Amino acid sequence: MTVPEKTWYQVFRRDKGLCQYCGLDLVANFSTFNAAAVDHIIAKSSGGTDKPENLILCCTGCNGMLTRSNELKTFVTRKQLVQKNHVEKESWFAKFKREVVETR
Ligand SMILES: [Zn+2]
Repeated sequence: MTVPEKTWYQVFRRDKGLCQYCGLDLVANFSTFNAAAVDHIIAKSSGGTDKPENLILCCTGCNGMLTRSNELKTFVTRKQLVQKNHVEKESWFAKFKREVVETR
């Protein structure tokens, strides 16, 4: 979901260019910068606003994990879900990566 450009950059600067859920450095390079997103803590469909207090800088990976989690209305509960998903996905990724690299 998009927010006004001015607000987007305001949130980006406030959160120092780091995904607030996983810590990814979104200014590390142009690819990570392009993966920057802004998450609504309280979804707009649930009455959340586009004000910076309701917005958090994150990466598209974390944002994607939260798209169906509008019932989680605090930063802490949203971060817990992302961290749980990261642990599961990272072990899957390690196995998958080995398989792919073996075929090179
Ligand atoms: Zn992230």
